Amino acid sequence: MSIKFEDTRRLVVEAGQEMLESRLVVGTWGNISARVPNEELMAITPSGVDYETITPDQIVIMDFNGNIVDGELKPSIEYNLHGAIYRDREDVKAVMHTHSTFSTAFALARKPIPAAAEDLVQIVGGDVRISEYFLPGTPELGEAAIKALEGRNAAILANHGCLAVGPTLKEVLKIVGVVEKSAQATIYAMQLGGVVPLCQEDVDCMRDFYLNHYGQR
Ligand code: 13P
Ligand code: ZN
Repeated sequence: MSIKFEDTRRLVVEAGQEMLESRLVVGTWGNISARVPNEELMAITPSGVDYETITPDQIVIMDFNGNIVDGELKPSIEYNLHGAIYRDREDVKAVMHTHSTFSTAFALARKPIPAAAEDLVQIVGGDVRISEYFLPGTPELGEAAIKALEGRNAAILANHGCLAVGPTLKEVLKIVGVVEKSAQATIYAMQLGGVVPLCQEDVDCMRDFYLNHYGQR
């Protein structure tokens, strides 16, 4: 294993373990990647390997066009999706895709998660759009995801699951968790009679607050 990629590979493995502990995974579905610092490369999880057992040397290093640069295992079938996002979004350093339950409910209904919960709009930047349906692993899915992600840090993949992008693996883990919680809360709110979305002005205000003021600085 090339020493050059060691840190990024280790961080991807750790994010996989946290994703598993957060109960966002059933079986081996879902995948994670991170940009290799200062390179046009990504470190991506191998296809169909248990997150409990993945080791850093099993993480595959690829360019954004699907060429393997380092690694022995077959990469995630979603390398087109991850690569397309890194090509399109300079700001994105990490990508996480899950088949988590409540996000999948929205995926099956092909409905967006409305911009109603404050933490959701802070971290995602608005509602969580639903992408057009394409088969897993296809370049078309990558293009559809980019459209749904415009101005956002998360999207729902139709009939499939959740997708989150962000500046670090820690942040994408947080985004996936908040999207999942918001999906669950939205379903409960619908049972209580409906959801009251925030107005665009308040969404923009909360997003700015999160990016520039929230927490310890
Ligand atoms: P991989 O195990 O190949 O990453 O596939 C899982 C998945 O979620 C496909 O969309
Ligand atoms: Zn998937």
